[in-house]
Amino acid sequence: MRKKKILTKSEQMARVRTKGTDVELALRKKLWALGLRYKLNSSLPGKPDLIFLKRKIAIFVDGCFWHGCPKHYRQPKNNDEFWRAKIQRNQERDRLVTQTLEEMNWTVIRFWEHEIENNLGACISRVMRVVA
Ligand SMILES: [Zn+2]
Repeated sequence: MRKKKILTKSEQMARVRTKGTDVELALRKKLWALGLRYKLNSSLPGKPDLIFLKRKIAIFVDGCFWHGCPKHYRQPKNNDEFWRAKIQRNQERDRLVTQTLEEMNWTVIRFWEHEIENNLGACISRVMRVVA
């Protein structure tokens, strides 16, 4: 009989984090290859994943777990109250960050991790339309 490996909570979280970083990297690489020169490490509210400074465009890649994607968020079985509250806070903060940036005349683009994973081309087109 095959034994299924049971991951600890921290192992599961580590997987989620790594995946998020991978898709963000895929987006960056493609944009860069297309000659779009974004910047990282911004000190803007919410620390966007990448920005186009002159055009005031801020891009976020939201992990399906941490940001409570309606398609992919799965409530962990343990500490469910804790996770529900935590994810809810993250979502509220996301909304506030978007609103704050928009009030500063920035254009905000938010991608779900799964959008990049499933259709990088469509995500790139969306960025191109705004940047162009
Ligand atoms: Zn998702």
